[in-house]
Amino acid sequence: MAKLYFRYGTVGSAKTLNLLAVAHNYRQQGKQVLLIKPALDDRFGKGSIKSRAGLEMAADILVTSETDLLLREFEGIDCVLVDEAQFLPGAVIDQLREISLVKRIPVICYGLRTDFRSNLFEASKRLMELADSIEEVKATCFFCTKKSIMNIRHLNGVATLDGPVVQVGAEESYFPVCYGCYVGQLKVVV
Ligand SMILES: [Zn+2]
Repeated sequence: MAKLYFRYGTVGSAKTLNLLAVAHNYRQQGKQVLLIKPALDDRFGKGSIKSRAGLEMAADILVTSETDLLLREFEGIDCVLVDEAQFLPGAVIDQLREISLVKRIPVICYGLRTDFRSNLFEASKRLMELADSIEEVKATCFFCTKKSIMNIRHLNGVATLDGPVVQVGAEESYFPVCYGCYVGQLKVVV
């Protein structure tokens, strides 16, 4: 079997750039990668995986709640790369786990660990449960020099716990923060 990887980090930790670099390396060696992302992530236009650094590749599969990846052929695929994995249905993580086992293709998922309320995303929880390898993609807190572990949401310049958990397209109002800055800004009593 091949491995299932979960590479998690906060917003702004260059996860997508990391994914695109891995895809580029495979392709340079004449190998085939399959690029997957959730259909609801239309931040940069449907069908495209684009990093804030400007690099971009076309996604091969846009996953919806109806998607069953196990119905697909993976002939000739050397690696499956998943962007914004936190937005996938949890069941799709189980499908990816099976692909790594049965098809013997490594699957590398990139995504957030928690939402702006500090709760695990369903798919991220499943990845924590099933992945062979869990690796942190590190970034620095936007407001100090510590490592960021939380994502904080700002609305009109003020930190808030309000709003929908899945709000795609409002990326600019999310910041990577350390726990101290998270609590301090939200004035959460601990
Ligand atoms: Zn901080």
